[in-house]
Order: sequence, then structure tokens, then C-alpha cells
Amino acid sequence: YDDEVLHVNTFTETKQLSEAFNKMLGRLKQLDQSREEFVSNVSHELKTPLTSMKVLADSLLAQEDVPIELYQEFMGDIAKEIDRENDIITDLLSLVKMDKTAKDLHIKSVNINELLELILKRLKPIAETKNVEVVLESFRPVTAEIDEVKLTLAFSNLVENAIKYNHEGGWVHVSLNADHKYFYVKVADSGIGIPEEDQVHIFERFYRVDKSHSREMGGTGLGLAIARNAVIIHRGSVKIYSNEGEGTTFTVRIPLTYVA
Ligand code: ADP
Repeated sequence: YDDEVLHVNTFTETKQLSEAFNKMLGRLKQLDQSREEFVSNVSHELKTPLTSMKVLADSLLAQEDVPIELYQEFMGDIAKEIDRENDIITDLLSLVKMDKTAKDLHIKSVNINELLELILKRLKPIAETKNVEVVLESFRPVTAEIDEVKLTLAFSNLVENAIKYNHEGGWVHVSLNADHKYFYVKVADSGIGIPEEDQVHIFERFYRVDKSHSREMGGTGLGLAIARNAVIIHRGSVKIYSNEGEGTTFTVRIPLTYVA
């Protein structure tokens, strides 16, 4: 009888082990595939401005007497593509930094009300170009243990998007609240909204609902991926509520005290 039990146990254990092994193998394959996808996306994104620059430079070179206006126009376009390439590289570097684990965090006690005020002040000029009203509502004073640089980037990206994907004359409402455990930052806008089928993908690297609109706005498709990673390394969460054509609200929840 004992032998039989032993046999059954070994059998189930072997089965469990092989299931666990297969699961791990599947996960590794998935990781490898997503790494490959990322490298191919990065290459594609970096190549696009280069291709434009090459076309512009070649067409200038092909002409003998280039009128000064045309020269200036093409050079202006080349400069814009260089700026774009630069933005992509800056965002990629931020993303790589955010991908690292908690040991790279510089945690200190930060006044979140002041942090948000500063972010809004910095983004005011962009909002003014679209006549978008940006309001901050602080329900209480909040101090939390965070990495200031990383969360500043995360909140800036959310507020900048709320302005970028808004209508002329629209509004952005940022609010700060807290309970005994977490603080909550809500970024609500009166913008174009995000279709339901896109909402699950919105935090993926390089995912955009409308590629040409994002490009026009100077977007790289990395802002939300950066924001989400920054929130996750603080053991926080970010949720999205959106109705197409009506606006979007992102809610971020971060623990007040950092636990490694
Ligand atoms: P991008 O650089 O293109 O803005 P993000 O990663 O920041 O990249 O955002 C991904 C996409 O999500 C955007 O291209 C846009 O389509 C959509 N999006 C993000 N925020 C908003 C928002 N507040 N309202 C509407 N669409 C948004």
C-alpha cells in the first residue's frame, strides 16, 4: 500500500514539475518574442525620420541651382526630423531606465502638491497654444516617499497627452487625493477619447490610436509605457476610463510609503 502511495506521489510530482517547466518555457519564448518585436519596432521608428531626411537631402543635391526659399524649407524639414529622432532616443532611454528594477530608485519624501504644481506650470505654454484650460485641485496636502524624477515624468506624460489629444478650447482637470495608505492622481480631459478596443493596448510601447495624429503632436508612442513602468516600480497602479469623443480619465494610485 505504501509503495502505491509513493508511486502516485512521484507520478503527480513529476507531472507537476513538467507542467511548471513547460509554463516557464512558454514564458521564456514569450519574452524572447516580445524582445524581438521591441527591437524591430525601435529600428522601424528610428528609420522613419532617417528615410525622410535622406529623401529631402537627395532632392536638394539633385538640383543645380536651388532657390534659397526651397533650400530653407527643406533644411527646416530636415531639422524637424532630427528633433523627432532626438525625441525618440530620449524616450527610449527613459523607458530603459524605467525597465530596471527598484534598486535604481531614488526614494525620498516629496510634497506631491508642489510636484504637480510644477508639472502644470511647465506644461502651461503647450496648453496655451491650444487654448486648453488646465486646473489642479488638491483635496489635501500629500507627502509621499517616491522617486521624484520618475514620477514627474509619468505625471507629465499623462497631463501632456491630456492637452495634446484635446480639442481647441478644451479642459484638463488634475486632482490629488489620499487616504491612509495611498495617494491618487486623476488626470481627466475633455479630449478626443480612446476607442474601447484600443484601451487594452494603450500602454504598449509604440502603440498609437492614430499614428499620424500622434506624429503631428510630436508623439513617440512611448509616453504611456514610460508612465506605466514608473508607476509599477512604485508598486502603484494606473487605470483608464474613456469614452470615444467625450474625453479620457487616467487614475494613478501610489502607496504613500515605499516598500522595497
Ligand atoms: P504618444 O507619444 O503617441 O502620445 P503615448 O504612449 O503617450 O504616445 O500614448 C499612446 C497613444 O494613446 C497616443 O498616440 C494616443 O492615440 C492615445 N492617447 C494617450 N493619451 C490620450 C488622451 N488623454 N486622450 C486620447 N488619446 C490618448
